Amino acid sequence: METKGLKTQFDIIVVGSGAAGLYAALCLPPHYRVALITKDTLKTGASDWAQGGIAAAIAPEDSPQFHQEDTLKAGVGLCDESAVQFLVDHAGTAIQSLVEMGVAFDRKGNNLAMTLEAAHSRPRVLHAADTTGRAIVTTLMEKVIQRPNIETIAQAIALQLWIDPQEKRCQGLSVLYEGQIQWLQAGAVILATGGGGQVYAQTTNPAVSTGDGVALAWRAGAIVRDLEFFQFHPTALTKPNAPHFLISEAVRGEGAHLVDTQGRRFAFDYHPSGELAPRDVVSRGICHYLQSQSKSSQSNVYLDLRPIEPERIRYRFPNIIRVCQKWGVDVFKEPIPVAPAAHYWMGGVNVDLNNSTSIKGLYAIGETASTGVHGANRLASNSLLECLVFAAQLSKLNVTSVVPMKQTTERVINHEEQWQQEMPQIREIRQALPPLMWQSAGISRSQTVLQEAIAQVSVWQNQLKSLSVSQPIFNLLPGQSVKFKEAETQSYLRTCSETLNLLDIAYLILKSSLFRTESRGGHYRQDYPQPSQAWQQHTLVRGDCWSQGDID
Ligand SMILES: Cc1cc2nc3c(=O)[nH]c(=O)nc-3n(C[C@H](O)[C@H](O)[C@H](O)COP(=O)(O)OP(=O)(O)OC[C@H]3O[C@@H](n4cnc5c(N)ncnc54)[C@H](O)[C@@H]3O)c2cc1C
Repeated sequence: METKGLKTQFDIIVVGSGAAGLYAALCLPPHYRVALITKDTLKTGASDWAQGGIAAAIAPEDSPQFHQEDTLKAGVGLCDESAVQFLVDHAGTAIQSLVEMGVAFDRKGNNLAMTLEAAHSRPRVLHAADTTGRAIVTTLMEKVIQRPNIETIAQAIALQLWIDPQEKRCQGLSVLYEGQIQWLQAGAVILATGGGGQVYAQTTNPAVSTGDGVALAWRAGAIVRDLEFFQFHPTALTKPNAPHFLISEAVRGEGAHLVDTQGRRFAFDYHPSGELAPRDVVSRGICHYLQSQSKSSQSNVYLDLRPIEPERIRYRFPNIIRVCQKWGVDVFKEPIPVAPAAHYWMGGVNVDLNNSTSIKGLYAIGETASTGVHGANRLASNSLLECLVFAAQLSKLNVTSVVPMKQTTERVINHEEQWQQEMPQIREIRQALPPLMWQSAGISRSQTVLQEAIAQVSVWQNQLKSLSVSQPIFNLLPGQSVKFKEAETQSYLRTCSETLNLLDIAYLILKSSLFRTESRGGHYRQDYPQPSQAWQQHTLVRGDCWSQGDID
């Protein structure tokens, strides 16, 4: 394979081109040379798929204080109040910046239109039909491409972080790009790699959401936090062979009913707010309801849009109409078959209000980070807002210049045949992991099942680490680079690195779920079904050390 010359030194490297990564790159001081690397195309990621909208208390009858109260309530005691305050106070500025850049939010007359979503006490969710994320990402991408100080590098996969052993500072990372693994050096690395929904068999997340940032940061020794908290969205399309396409919460906000086969609104059996109760309550309600109907082996319930005016459906949900139609569901005539799916990871790399992790020179933003705004459960439409508000903080980033690294020794390796033989084992693990996680660390968890899953995942981790295809990921010394002869090698290495990352995050989710002996928000233990005052604390992890509240 021919390799195009890739610059190896930057002031700052941003990993990921979702809302968080793109906005961060734009906010960074323009005199820095910034590399924006992303493992697929620039627009691939969860941000592009976001439908419902972005929350901001900017209507006259609303206030940041109400937004803060709703966020804290949804987070069930685990939000960091200062982080939430920061989020809601800066929402208006973030929206204004998007509008000035040209994001065309829907309007009602001259004002921005707002909708109500579950657990919000006021209509405060701005939207651009049901493709809000796309509207934001497209605008940010256009701006990034125009910026001379930002070099975008697509199809480039971050593999490992480079931590200087003396200074314990992040110096860059290794990247797989065009048939070569090499080190890129920088004064700061910003992880914006999104979530990890692909670790579960049922997920609304795109294929790139393999938890890479959390896995890389954890392996490098950074503190990660609250990884047991995963939000399961109640309403993903459930049709044979169809992807688990999200049917946005906004649909229920606009008046759609969650019903069983008889058309009964069973969600009120589980919570007085019915289908507008918090997501974890509705998801568990659906699972409980389905289990109680087990004789009929029913695997979904239904979302009926017909209580909404047809004109309103056409105006608000054109993408949902289109996708449902593609899978044979006419939303004007029949309810949509739906079931819960893994949707949003509240936990992540522990950061402060400036996005600093516990490692100098390493930052995390967006879904990869744990800023403290979501606590045990995210309030709908707060995540796009978090991406922007926290990324904007990077305008103050001050980067120390790097001492250029020593000459690289380039090795050309040709392990094609051996790696090819190892691939079936990797693919088998990659296929078996998500169903295991869905059963063991999904909507309902318990000690024995978690312990069994941890044992299985540990076996797979060891197997994979010992394969020869894993060696360039783990054992390449800073300064070294390797080139591969065959084109397939890139895809072998990508599959291997993503599977290693998925196994690492699976291990972290399982162990954190076992550690927390209570139920709260996105973490439900059937053997400890109540929240406990003693557990109103974060779960902190560094290496193989789990700690409640604080860590040295
Ligand atoms: C279907 C769906 C609907 C949603 N709707 C809403 C909504 O209406 N409102 C809301 O607030 N939130 C919503 N969310 C959540 C929200 O979209 C995400 O939390 C948010 O977009 C995350 O942004 P991000 O920039 O952190 O990550 P992403 O947008 O996922 O971007 C991650 C980027 O990192 C890249 N990457 C990953 N690993 C690597 C690697 N190793 N090397 C290089 N690049 C890498 C990816 O390719 C991608 O470019 C929704 C999520 C989904 C899945």
